Amino acid sequence: MAEETIFSKIIRREIPADIVWQDDLVTAFRDISPQAPTHILIVPNILIPTVNDTLPEHEQALGHLITVAAKIAEQEGIAEDGFRLVINCNRHGGQEVYHLHMHLLGGRPLGPLLS
Ligand code: IMP
Repeated sequence: MAEETIFSKIIRREIPADIVWQDDLVTAFRDISPQAPTHILIVPNILIPTVNDTLPEHEQALGHLITVAAKIAEQEGIAEDGFRLVINCNRHGGQEVYHLHMHLLGGRPLGPLLS
């Protein structure tokens, strides 16, 4: 059984967060340390620690991360200029919080992908 992270508490609204979207499958909230004018994390409500832990039964929630990202980008006014979606996995991917999440970044030109 995977260990819960702070994101489970945010999803259950036990600790404060700037939640911009929540439905049966996913929750989206502003990153506490934004790397761009819009920096939102979109997370499945169920705990999947990393991309390596995904199963066929997670596909609905995982696909929903992208459709919700598009809705939030529209809501944030960054859809037309564009944005970046990022999912980090494990150490080499730079993952810090072990509850799978998608970063939605936008509001400025983001430059090359890799550093
Ligand atoms: P990762 O490196 O892909 O795991 O990204 C984790 C992200 O979670 C980082 O961008 C952090 O700034 C963000 N983060 C960590 N704790 C919180 C929190 O309590 N609220 C909102 N964002 C958080």
